[in-house]
Amino acid sequence: ELPITVRSLSEAMGRPAKAIMSIMFKEFGEMVTINQIIEEETALAVALELGVDLTFKRQKGIEETVNEIIEQEDASEDLITRPPIITVLGHVDHGKTTLVDSLRNSKVVEGEAGGITQHIAAYQVEHNNHKLTFVDTPGHAAFSEMRSRGANVTDMVVLVVAADDGVMPQTAESISHVKASGVPMVVAMNKIDLPEINEQKVLTDLAAQDVLPSEWGGETEVVRVSALNGTGLDNLLETLLLTAELHELKANPNRPAVGVCLEGFRDEGRGSVAWLIVQKGTLRIGDAVVCGKSYGYIRAMYDDRDQQLEEAPPSLPVKVTGLDSVPGAGDHFAVLSDIEQARELAEERRHEGRTDTLARHSGGPRTLDDIMG
Ligand code: GDP
Ligand code: MG
Repeated sequence: ELPITVRSLSEAMGRPAKAIMSIMFKEFGEMVTINQIIEEETALAVALELGVDLTFKRQKGIEETVNEIIEQEDASEDLITRPPIITVLGHVDHGKTTLVDSLRNSKVVEGEAGGITQHIAAYQVEHNNHKLTFVDTPGHAAFSEMRSRGANVTDMVVLVVAADDGVMPQTAESISHVKASGVPMVVAMNKIDLPEINEQKVLTDLAAQDVLPSEWGGETEVVRVSALNGTGLDNLLETLLLTAELHELKANPNRPAVGVCLEGFRDEGRGSVAWLIVQKGTLRIGDAVVCGKSYGYIRAMYDDRDQQLEEAPPSLPVKVTGLDSVPGAGDHFAVLSDIEQARELAEERRHEGRTDTLARHSGGPRTLDDIMG
């Protein structure tokens, strides 16, 4: 039994070893040789970067069926425009939370909520009759973690840069993650209400990171905002909608729903609760769902204001109850025709999870066969 090397991984994926080495260097800062042994987790992450999901090859049967459902291409005539899903990134204290809060408060219809304030993983706002979905991830680590799991929910990134501070370490990290992902980015130059700001410095800092502002002939829109007093927020939303339009984001609403769990938690009254975001199809109350290692019928559905919903179309984030356990961030979900299938798959995955943990604790190199099943 052989451990995974750059060469064996290259052969397994049918991709050049050079491409693997380059990703190892760029993503993990490691210079590797062709015969070097790499860890399974790293190998899977590298494969994902190259667009090959080896985890899909680990199981056969229902797992494959579900992946077929998830990946099933839709006919172009079935596709309709869907709202963009936007993640806000940036350095600590540059105003991410303030920005998402003021967008939500100024743009979401006020007043009806039952007042249960809980953490909100994502929400939708409307601007000039167009919807936009914001995902409130706790930073670029989560953004990358989701992507490394193949959960590419983000269509666009808003990079918040405080005008009194410029590009800081987490700004730079965010930029490199966004570049690696290929997701379009709009910069929100925040805190322009402050007296001691230096707009030119922000632009220079960005250019130094290879993010060339459009006002300097580059491709990145830099929108001046004050998250605190609301200046420029309409402009930011318009820029985001324009960017979305350029990328023609579409989905088929008339198919079994698939999507990703943004976050799960346990609620005393409602049991296991999951924030799901629908990518394709429409999720409905009563649907049989498998989500990572969890399964169940969707019992109730709520939006970010705790309003009950009957169904969720593409790009709408919803909080659902009815799953038998709490799924994790980045878990894919799919609606199946049969709850038994959902149960079996969830149980298989739980079993596999235990086997993985055992294997990891027993040490020793994992083999390519282990990965490829
Ligand atoms: P985060 O760490 O990026 O989420 O930053 P926060 O949203 O928590 O903001 C950090 C601090 O900056 C808080 O004290 C905010 O009130 C302040 N802040 C955020 N946006 C603005 C703004 O547009 N103008 C000013 N003057 N302060 C802001
Ligand atoms: Mg914050």
